[in-house]
Amino acid sequence: MIKRITLISASIALGCLATIGPVLTSLYVADKDVENRDREELREFANKAVMRTDFVTYQAFAALSDLDRVPGPVCSTAKLEQAARIVYNYRYVQDAGSYGDGHYLCSPLLGDVRTKNFALPPPDFRSNDGYLVWLQQKSPLSDVRKDIQIGRSGNYVAVDSGSYVDLIDPAQRPIAAILTTTGTLMAISPGADPDEMLNAWKHDGNVKSDQWYYAVAHSSTRPVGVVVRSPHGHIAGDWPKVLIAWLSIGVIVGAALGWLAYRRVTRQLSFPATLEWAIARRMIDVVYQPIVNLTDGKCIGVEALVRWTLNGRSISPEVFVRVAEDNQLIQPLTDLVLEKTLAQLGALLVASPSFYVSINVSGEDLATFRFLNLLNASLNGTGIAPKQIRIEATERSFMNAETTRGVIAAFRAAGHPVYIDDFGTGYSSLSYLQTFEIDVLKIDRSFVETIAQDTASSVVAPHIIAMAHELNVEIIAEGVESAAQAAWLRDKGVQYAQGWHYAKAMATNELTRWLGQNRASHGENRFPENSQETT
Ligand code: C2E
Ligand code: MG
Ligand code: MG
Repeated sequence: MIKRITLISASIALGCLATIGPVLTSLYVADKDVENRDREELREFANKAVMRTDFVTYQAFAALSDLDRVPGPVCSTAKLEQAARIVYNYRYVQDAGSYGDGHYLCSPLLGDVRTKNFALPPPDFRSNDGYLVWLQQKSPLSDVRKDIQIGRSGNYVAVDSGSYVDLIDPAQRPIAAILTTTGTLMAISPGADPDEMLNAWKHDGNVKSDQWYYAVAHSSTRPVGVVVRSPHGHIAGDWPKVLIAWLSIGVIVGAALGWLAYRRVTRQLSFPATLEWAIARRMIDVVYQPIVNLTDGKCIGVEALVRWTLNGRSISPEVFVRVAEDNQLIQPLTDLVLEKTLAQLGALLVASPSFYVSINVSGEDLATFRFLNLLNASLNGTGIAPKQIRIEATERSFMNAETTRGVIAAFRAAGHPVYIDDFGTGYSSLSYLQTFEIDVLKIDRSFVETIAQDTASSVVAPHIIAMAHELNVEIIAEGVESAAQAAWLRDKGVQYAQGWHYAKAMATNELTRWLGQNRASHGENRFPENSQETT
């Protein structure tokens, strides 16, 4: 029982888990979904930022080659006019001019400063194809702004570094533009921490933080890249929608699994499932009720009857045998009764060859040769004769006459006498009965209990008895409770009886004692009988 309670508790726990699991999983998935959307959105922002960086760089290089194209001496009017056009035409170019010997020479913004000795420090970076790059270069005219200057062959252009990172973004996510060849910072959004952004760049954006996500993007044409940052839950506005979507899925899956688990638990708790469980654990017992010879009261055999006690309560076989029949459990039940009967009465049967046990079977056991084969195999080598194991079949089990007839014939051919149980309660007519070869007819208790009373059923009993005599089959009267009934039956030529007047159904030990007394009262050896006796 404890195992069963454990099983049911485990099922209930599993059911709860099956319900809660998907809901919790959906919360986790929703959280991951929001994170993925956050990251994806940030990657898109990084791509936009690198396009801007690319564009600004492109303008600087284009402006420089426009300036290179003007022939003539340095700081000529033509050159300065071209430079002025460039500053005007290229949106991001702040100034364009010439330099030489570590000094600014002239530009539209500075004018001709060849005599002023405005120093130009060595560049921060020289490319293989002759470009020089000054990062954070202050104009000789202003301390306020630091430009990025790109120069080649004595010409330069200056670009405001802020234009690399001043993308319009309502969320104001910081951007840092990086010169990828050296990993140096070219420009950064106001207020952002250069060390933090450079660190994120170095780790390709994979920096663990409770607060921020980072993403990087590279230009496909220039040695520039960007790193951007956004807070967790950036798309917080979407979070309730995402949560509701995933939670609905979680609740539906959870409810479905919960329902399945509920069905499983209720099935486990159902009566057929409990019976199945009891049969599988061999918790069904067998007791034996003596069948006696009416003339002298001597016991000639017993009927095996099942008993099931569940939670201290005895369940009627009338109830659970029917449940077993309706739930494909009757075959395992019949098998268990046979197995227990042979184990408990085997020695007694071997020592008393005239003694027998009758086993109740159901329609399913008579529909195929399965039970007969099992019975034969079980008796093999035991020393028990086939005639010592008899078959009791109710009229109900004869309903499917065609298949049953062959199986009953096979039981008889194998040496097992066949009894019709509860005769008179079913639908058998005399002519129907004639088509079956059977050995004994058991008159149902309901006819016996009204014997000698003035009721309709008491009128039926003499007819059944007369009919059995006609058919030349022996009779066992069931449910004999009084000496008067026994006398009446004996008088009518009924050979055998079974009932509380003689004995109730008993477990093996009690039966052995009872049989000893029964034998002794007939002046015979104590049970078992000696082996010379024959039927
Ligand atoms: P049944 O085969 O006709 O068995 C006789 C029933 O009458 C038994 O009831 C027995 O205890 C009861 N009985 C015997 N003498 C008296 C008496 O003098 N007075 C009264 N009032 N009752 C008496 P039980 O054991 O409750 O079994 C009921 C039925 O359950 C059986 O009727 C049989 O149809 C079925 N059954 C029992 N064991 C098995 C089994 O192993 N397999 C199958 N398929 N059915 C079984
Ligand atoms: Mg019976
Ligand atoms: Mg009966």
